[in-house]
Amino acid sequence: MHLFEFVPVSQLVEGEPRHRRSIYRSAYLDIRVREELAKGTYDYDLVVIGGGSAGLACAKEAVLNGARVACLDFVKPTPTLGTKWGVGGTCVNVGCIPKKLMHQASLLGEAVHEAAAYGWNVDDKIKPDWSKLVQSVQNHIKSVNWVTRVDLRDKKVEYINGLGSFVDAHTMLAKLKSSERTITAQNFVIAVGGRPRYPDIPGAVEHGITSDDLFSLDREPGKTLVVGAGYIGLECAGFLKGLGYEPTVMVRSIVLRGFDQQMAELVASSMEERGIPFLRKSVPLSVEKQDDGKLLVKYKNTETGEEAEELFDTVLWAIGRKGLVEDLNLSNAGVSVQKDKIPVDSQETTNVPNIYAVGDIIYGKPELTPVAVLAGRLLARRLYGGATQRMDYNDVATTVFTPLEYACVGLSEEDAVKQYGEDEVEVFHGYYKPTEFFIPQKSVRYCYLKAVAERHGDQRVYGLHYLGPVAGEVIQGFAAALKSGLTVNTLMNTVGIHPTTAEEFTRLSITKRSGLDPTPASCCS
Ligand code: FAD
Ligand code: NDP
Repeated sequence: MHLFEFVPVSQLVEGEPRHRRSIYRSAYLDIRVREELAKGTYDYDLVVIGGGSAGLACAKEAVLNGARVACLDFVKPTPTLGTKWGVGGTCVNVGCIPKKLMHQASLLGEAVHEAAAYGWNVDDKIKPDWSKLVQSVQNHIKSVNWVTRVDLRDKKVEYINGLGSFVDAHTMLAKLKSSERTITAQNFVIAVGGRPRYPDIPGAVEHGITSDDLFSLDREPGKTLVVGAGYIGLECAGFLKGLGYEPTVMVRSIVLRGFDQQMAELVASSMEERGIPFLRKSVPLSVEKQDDGKLLVKYKNTETGEEAEELFDTVLWAIGRKGLVEDLNLSNAGVSVQKDKIPVDSQETTNVPNIYAVGDIIYGKPELTPVAVLAGRLLARRLYGGATQRMDYNDVATTVFTPLEYACVGLSEEDAVKQYGEDEVEVFHGYYKPTEFFIPQKSVRYCYLKAVAERHGDQRVYGLHYLGPVAGEVIQGFAAALKSGLTVNTLMNTVGIHPTTAEEFTRLSITKRSGLDPTPASCCS
């Protein structure tokens, strides 16, 4: 009899020395493989449906822990322009990566103009070339697609370029380019993500595009109506403005729903200051193509009922994303769906015990790449590595890459008040002046930050909010501190790095409750 058989699974604890953990892991796999053999054989231990951030992380980690894994990925072309892309999912192809590159292109344009103030001789006529930018961005994406495929091959994940749908809880049909393949597995992980929504109005699909088309658009966007004031709407409007186009943002209700609304309004105001108009309380009614190719958008103010119309070169729908459940035939496997998403328990298990879901497709969790990656990896470790750690979806830091970036972690001011009561919440806040803004005389009006904290006792910090340059870089480290139980006292006793904008968190001393002016007098005292 095998020695490892005597190690109980309950002993497979985190925190053991690495060599002991690997012994436990072998023991766990050894037991599991024999259990499976007893049940009958499947083609794979695990089939992951979706080769995006969540699916790839899960598939690779499962193989690392000894499982036989296949990963299906298939991209349907966009309805308007027929845009499609390779393996890697939304983040790599039509999300975080091309967005950040275009944001960077836009910031560089601004920096070139600032350089003149710093003494560089810069040609005034400097302007971006959209087609060159698109080419560079797409070249980078293609290289990532290629590296991803090589990585999957090296890590022994079988990549299947096919659209998966369930036949039953252990069987999947993969529609390949010109054939079909039936695949069986002990477990399935659904990681199919989502795609942009289109509004149900005339001309929306025929004439409007989404972020799925924008990063490979073969013409300049020109004057663009961006419908939606969430992450995608604001980010796209921001970089389009920086690249010299004319975006307008149409806001149905509020800006950046779910975020701290004081910060959200500051983001909007900072964009308006840069010349981006916001059409508030408005919804589109129709889009008609004119003879000259321009798009006539009719829209309505939801408060006054007043209707108006305007011509645009491009209409970009940024009104949220829907989960890709339709093609999966989930009813064949008995998997429940809630509002085109899949509800899961704290172990990412669906209502069917051998079927799991991770990433954007799960109901009620943040739609962010690092969330998808960590949840996918932890799930694989629990399934095949004997680990027990669950994904913690709380206090996830995030950044909105608008021209002046906004990053935050933890609770918004309104959520803290809702949770703990107004008398129990203290908000430390302040405006600040980034040193590098002085010479080019950039506006500092919206450089603002706040710490939302417990009012009494240890003064634990509930949330940190920062509007200013390189916001993601600033908040990332503070996110670790917040997760470790950061208090106001620790924050105040942290020595800043001068001159940075991140140090402003260590200089916060004015509370909102005091009513004192949060505008700084000088930068260095
Ligand atoms: P996806 O990455 O969408 O992967 C799912 C894959 O499954 C896709 O390739 C899909 O085609 C495929 N698929 C679907 N159905 C099937 C099927 N039946 N069979 C086979 N394959 C199928 N997040 C951040 O953290 N930071 C950012 O800055 C950021 N910027 C973003 C910008 C934009 C414009 C967008 C749209 C998103 C952005 N996100 C950002 C969100 C991030 O991209 C997603 O949270 C992340 O990609 C989700 O990963 P996923 O694996 O769940 O899904
Ligand atoms: P969001 O849900 O963030 O925003 C959707 C916006 O569209 C809201 O302003 C909403 O208004 C509006 N809207 C919805 N339906 C309509 C309609 N029929 N007509 C007019 N307006 C409408 O979705 P996004 O598409 O911006 O982003 C999707 C997800 O992708 C985000 O939640 C985020 O997790 C992820 N992402 C992350 C990024 C990052 O990390 N930097 C960047 C981009 C995306 P209302 O408030 O009235 O509902």
